[in-house]
Amino acid sequence: MARAERRDLSCDVLVIGSGAGGLSTAITARKAGLDVIIIEKDDHFGGTTAFSGGVLWIPGNPHARKAGITDSRDAARTYLRRETGNFYDEAAIEAFLDAGPRMLEFFEAETEAKFVLSGYPDYHPDIEGGAQTGRSVTAAPFDARALGQEIKRLRPPLETITFIGMMFNSSNDELKHFFRATRSLTSAIYVARRLCGHFKDLALYRRGVQVTSGNALVARLAKTVFDLDIPLLTGTAGQRLISEGGAVRGAVVRDGAGEFSIQARRAVVLACGGFPHDRARIARAYPHLARGGEHVSPTPAANTGDGIRMAEEAGAKCEIRFPSAAAWMPVSKVPLGGGRTGVFPHLVDRYKPGVIAVNRRGRRFTNESNSYHDVGAAMIADGAQGAETAAWLICDHATIRKYGLGNAKPAPVPLGPFVRNGYLTSGQTLRDLAAAAGIDADGLEATVRAYNRGAAHGEDPQFHRGATAFNRYLGDGEHQPNPNVAPIERGPYYALKMIMGDLGTFDGLATDRFARVLDAERRAIPGLYAVGNDSASIMGGNYPGAGITLGPIMTFGYLAGRHLAGLEA
Ligand SMILES: Cc1cc2nc3c(=O)[nH]c(=O)nc-3n(C[C@H](O)[C@H](O)[C@H](O)COP(=O)(O)OP(=O)(O)OC[C@H]3O[C@@H](n4cnc5c(N)ncnc54)[C@H](O)[C@@H]3O)c2cc1C
Repeated sequence: MARAERRDLSCDVLVIGSGAGGLSTAITARKAGLDVIIIEKDDHFGGTTAFSGGVLWIPGNPHARKAGITDSRDAARTYLRRETGNFYDEAAIEAFLDAGPRMLEFFEAETEAKFVLSGYPDYHPDIEGGAQTGRSVTAAPFDARALGQEIKRLRPPLETITFIGMMFNSSNDELKHFFRATRSLTSAIYVARRLCGHFKDLALYRRGVQVTSGNALVARLAKTVFDLDIPLLTGTAGQRLISEGGAVRGAVVRDGAGEFSIQARRAVVLACGGFPHDRARIARAYPHLARGGEHVSPTPAANTGDGIRMAEEAGAKCEIRFPSAAAWMPVSKVPLGGGRTGVFPHLVDRYKPGVIAVNRRGRRFTNESNSYHDVGAAMIADGAQGAETAAWLICDHATIRKYGLGNAKPAPVPLGPFVRNGYLTSGQTLRDLAAAAGIDADGLEATVRAYNRGAAHGEDPQFHRGATAFNRYLGDGEHQPNPNVAPIERGPYYALKMIMGDLGTFDGLATDRFARVLDAERRAIPGLYAVGNDSASIMGGNYPGAGITLGPIMTFGYLAGRHLAGLEA
């Protein structure tokens, strides 16, 4: 768009940010007849959502109903009441439970967004109201070539969780073929075919085009955005809100050519993805940072808390009040070459039999097969006495070749480069390993001895790994009697240091059930909405199941879009 045309843009609804929150609101409002503009600070659209697993937690979703899985709204309500404790917000939870299934039906019927049932159990399935399966759905894989030229603006997936740019189906089925490639002819043929197709795509498009997970979710939503002719201005950052008579009427924005304003007749919707890179705010909100520890976020660097700052300037409040201000994710720093460092989220390795996590004293401190958020919270609690919050994953040679560890892939992908570049530490004996990694050697030897006694029989008397359906879900189902537990046997041994990271922030702006931003007296600020991680999570800083950020994010995006159009009251 030429500079002159861009001056004094106007619309009904200005959406600031192009993750799941922004895109779902924009699509719903446009479908209801409103004139919408989306702006995005980055040169790519999609935000953290494009890096994500693309899993949505929606109790009572139509896919589970179709599969004959029994669940009830009462059970989901009970579970959420137990999980959120003092932060249980009845109005918000009821709005979510009521609108979640409707939202999914709307997007599947009216847009390119399609989902498949995922097998995830809730993260605490044995808590009252918890489900063994059926509440999580995943974005269906997508051929991103359907975006035409716009594929260039689709944020690529997180580099560290692709294999040479290739995305895996988050159902886990594809990964199983890669794990088995050296042992099964069927898997070897599958892997060879997949690699050939991928190299062809890289040559033609300079990126993988068969996208899955969050990349598929964003590509699917973006396809609908473009089909509906919603302008999506990338490289354009919201700077400050324009208010008149106490109501928000638009925003001053900035692109490469300078500042201009966009008037919004109905409202501005903040969807800037929370504050994971607002250094000042996270220094106050994250306990491990406050005591001098390290924190590295795999979320996009552009998520610097702009939406929250703009809302605060307009009279809104963002309190740090949850026990966990963010969704914790243990991560490791991956040397990518050329001086670049990637952030690897430890999503699957901690569940595998033969992998344990210890602290600097060489002691285990938690059930490693719990969710990333629970293991993260345990790391933060374990580090409470000192400046460092860290843990080391430990395993033997047979285990690392079978499952990989962090960014190090299973055989036949070579291990040597990861040892040479310092990502992995190795040792012929546990004492050598401990010395190389800076872990207490007596502690590590004693820990492995004690762990192996139970592990020989598939037992973990200390932390009960494998006790829940969720523990077992990401373990190795073929490893019996316990998919999460095996002894650590013959060297060489390996250690990989994990530090604390996040999947996005939980604390945020106070909003009502239509996503309107509230002021300090809890009155809606006219003309201002916040969706996604700019608004405080309805989970109160807890992580009940796979997709508990994106499920509510798309649901409240849908409700915001409908409320803006006068379809919800
Ligand atoms: C590896 C990983 C896996 C995950 N998997 C899942 C999962 O499977 N299920 C789940 O529920 N959650 C998952 N999460 C968390 C989830 O991705 C986020 O909670 C969610 O994507 C946040 O959506 P959002 O719309 O609020 O923000 P984002 O998707 O981050 O979008 C915000 C956008 O706003 C833009 N922006 C920021 N400031 C401005 C400004 N001033 N002007 C204009 N634009 C601006 C940003 O550039 C960004 O593009 C995962 C996260 C990670 C990192």
